[in-house]
Amino acid sequence: MSYRERQIRTKFLINQLKIKYSTNKINYSLNNMADSFCNNVLVIAPHTDDEVIGCGGYIQYLTLKKYHVHVLFVTVENERSISKPQFLNGEYKRIIESSKAKNYLKYTVSYNLMIEERRLHVNRDEQMSLIHIIYNLIKNNKYNSILIPNYDDFNPDHRIISKNSLEALDLLIDKKKDTNSLHMPQWLFFYEVWGPTKASHICLLDKHIHRQKLSAMKCYSSQMKTVDYVEIIDCIHKVRSDQLNDIESNMALLKNITSFELFEEIKISTIKNIINKIQI
Ligand SMILES: [Zn+2]
Repeated sequence: MSYRERQIRTKFLINQLKIKYSTNKINYSLNNMADSFCNNVLVIAPHTDDEVIGCGGYIQYLTLKKYHVHVLFVTVENERSISKPQFLNGEYKRIIESSKAKNYLKYTVSYNLMIEERRLHVNRDEQMSLIHIIYNLIKNNKYNSILIPNYDDFNPDHRIISKNSLEALDLLIDKKKDTNSLHMPQWLFFYEVWGPTKASHICLLDKHIHRQKLSAMKCYSSQMKTVDYVEIIDCIHKVRSDQLNDIESNMALLKNITSFELFEEIKISTIKNIINKIQI
């Protein structure tokens, strides 16, 4: 792909994002993520790079405090993907790039399920196996916080993986009725990539954390060749900043802050309702 094609694609995505993000304005006060005690966290990332775009700052904030953060990467590229699969010594280049990005985010461990992109939504068997993998990960590792991709998102993988993650939690709630000792996470959040959440929480990023996030993004050279994701991160920040500036308490939070990430807290009692309204 030529430089010009990359710029055209980036501009197109930015225009789409601006329209999409304007549908969920923030005209209320946000809570600070720092006030949620999440010290054992699972991040569910449909693609390698979503962990950086959506919560690369928050992950660093957690790991600086020596908290445990696991990242579950669900898919790998296939021939239908925008950037075609590339291999280095028989390994997916994008997975190698994710290890490089991990050096900046410094999270504890990652899992790669390597399900092919853009086919999960048409394959219920594969969804069921994903639901059980997420269910067992949560059960065995006793996470107290789970970060889930937003369901109101342009990307079909994000929508279906958001739904399947909630289904895994719903299964856990069901099983807990029989086995009281079963662990339930205390905090659940959606994070933002290709679409806005009904943000309830903000994670503030200082200059250093923001710079590390951009460096982590640049590790994904295979992705950066097709779209300028640094510009995408910048665009999401600009659109959301303009919305935050309308509220005085949010403006106070933003003092001396370079950037931020937004999250929507999910109440356990609402999981079933959300599952039913997710459009695949
Ligand atoms: Zn993604």
